[in-house]
Amino acid sequence: MTGPAAEWSDAHARRSAARLRDARRIVVKVGSALLVDDQTGRLDEHWLAGLVGDLARVRSRGQQVVVVSSGAIALGSRTLGLVPRRNRLDESQAAAAVGQIQLARAWRNALSVHGLEVAQVLLTLDDSDHRRRYLNARNTLETLLRLGVVPVVNENDTVATAEIRYGDNDRLAARVAQMISADCLVLLSDVSGLYARDPRVDPAAALVPEVATLTPDIRAMASDAVTGGMGSGGMRTKLLAADVATSAGTAMVIAYGRREAPLAALESGEACTWFLPGAVSPVTARKQWIAGTLQPTGELCVDDGAARALAAGASLLAAGVRSVDGTFGRGDAVRILGPDGVEIARGLAAYSSDEARRIAGRHSGEITDLLGYRGRDALVHRDDLVLARTTG
Ligand code: GLU
Repeated sequence: MTGPAAEWSDAHARRSAARLRDARRIVVKVGSALLVDDQTGRLDEHWLAGLVGDLARVRSRGQQVVVVSSGAIALGSRTLGLVPRRNRLDESQAAAAVGQIQLARAWRNALSVHGLEVAQVLLTLDDSDHRRRYLNARNTLETLLRLGVVPVVNENDTVATAEIRYGDNDRLAARVAQMISADCLVLLSDVSGLYARDPRVDPAAALVPEVATLTPDIRAMASDAVTGGMGSGGMRTKLLAADVATSAGTAMVIAYGRREAPLAALESGEACTWFLPGAVSPVTARKQWIAGTLQPTGELCVDDGAARALAAGASLLAAGVRSVDGTFGRGDAVRILGPDGVEIARGLAAYSSDEARRIAGRHSGEITDLLGYRGRDALVHRDDLVLARTTG
């Protein structure tokens, strides 16, 4: 693996382009500094059109794209005659409420040129910290992607008070990447990547091409913060984002965004900084979290047929559940026991314990009648299920 001092080489360029081209799912974070002109406070439609051309090309190759876009506060501040960096919290929240409409409209107009549908998704920190809301947000994003829509995510600044704010879209983007098991997170920035020293102070400072581990040396580089004009995210928040992304198995890149088609530039080998995930894939990282980190609060005892189906990789349907123990909410971790009482898997329940008791042993088609609403077909979806390790 290359160390911090390595020069950007052809090999880096090839690997960089391949990571972007081979990713199944890409999250692209766009900062306010790129989207909104610092002087005029206006949205740069020309730049947006260039980036959206990039996204349309990525989509036409069959890759899925989620955008995390800042800019609401900057745009709304202009409309309201406020100065973004001098706003009180309530003024920023008011500005975000005004600016988010403009932001969403701009994305919609730009994407519609390429026949792409857009969805606005506003998240708060709570949505990624509370499992139930996390699952809800994830399911919605999954469904939007399946339906071919481009989700454009921002923080729900209007309701997010200081204690429950991400505060910066770098970390929000990393949590979104983690949530949907993205292969790749692109932070478009007004710097080309992580430098060993602040390039404004030392123009000869070397760009770090690849970071395999977030060592203290690497973290120290972020204290020479190279911050963007209007965005709140400096290098420090980008490294925090890298921590979240790489531990979830997502590769993250900081790349220069002030150009017509920044993703095309990356694909043609432009220098940037990649933060590499360990050996884990995004899906494995998620399953480790389910199996290892979460405390199960209930048990589902299943019949032979269900046990065999689970071993073959299927979801757990209510029909195969004989009994339900414990108290759990939707999204909580549960143990799944075979007919002999031995744990065969763990997973996240798609129904609460009360609901699970009502639908246990019944067919998926009966769920609507039993519960009064149409929930998920599976009691534990296979994406949320990890089989216990078997010996031999
Ligand atoms: N959510 C904020 C906005 O849309 C931006 C936060 C950031 O720039 O990191 O204005």
